Amino acid sequence: TSLASKKLVVANWKMHGNLMRNQQLIQAYLPALAACTRAEVVVCVPYPYLAQIQTLLTGTSVAWGAQNVAKYEEGAYTGEVGAQMLTDFGARYVIIGHSERSTAYCESDENIAEKFMMAKRHGLTPILCVGETLLEREAGVMERVVGKQLETIIRLFGGEAFAGSIVSYEPIWAIGTGLAATSEQAVAMHQFIRESVAASDKTAADTLKILYGGSVNPQNAVQLLNQKEIDGALVGRCSLDAEQFIKICQAV
Ligand code: PGA
Repeated sequence: TSLASKKLVVANWKMHGNLMRNQQLIQAYLPALAACTRAEVVVCVPYPYLAQIQTLLTGTSVAWGAQNVAKYEEGAYTGEVGAQMLTDFGARYVIIGHSERSTAYCESDENIAEKFMMAKRHGLTPILCVGETLLEREAGVMERVVGKQLETIIRLFGGEAFAGSIVSYEPIWAIGTGLAATSEQAVAMHQFIRESVAASDKTAADTLKILYGGSVNPQNAVQLLNQKEIDGALVGRCSLDAEQFIKICQAV
């Protein structure tokens, strides 16, 4: 397990929301989350709502972040958003390499590794998503697949890149399907991830947080979040419903 004591629950709103719904959702989250002392909470919103979320969450215990970042500093990159722009709006976290992006926009592991380092360079905590498809799990090669995703970062930037970072294990077959990994499956992969990083940099592995993501709901959160190998959760669908999201945060 990581040395950090508190569990981390990250809401991934994906491409949902509008000004009014965001405000209602945050207002519904806040009283309960402020009272929730055992979980740290982060909300990752679409870029245009960073300013709004900054206004709504400044001075609360809830932090915020984005769902993607450019691999470049600045320049002629139409449609891209740089790490500096995220920190301008108080973001402290950024999701990197989510499978909904890497599949739809053909992001390579190298691209993802560069985004990961760009986030770090700007003081953002990267939340690196890794995970296998159902075919890969059925073929028994899930560790090889996840190992390769981690290996690209280790090869390009060294194991120390994982110090203070976050990896989210997100089996693709569990995302948005209602079929979460069992806590045994998640724990086994979390152990593999920490060992893979430790093989390159023991200190970094000790300060790495490893989350689980994929159909987390208030029922399965109790099992998942109370495993010592699982440092928290990345929550998609259930983060759009205040009552369910609060229950997940309180499951710790
Ligand atoms: P889900 O999404 O909770 O809706 O399955 C999780 C994710 O994409 O990380």
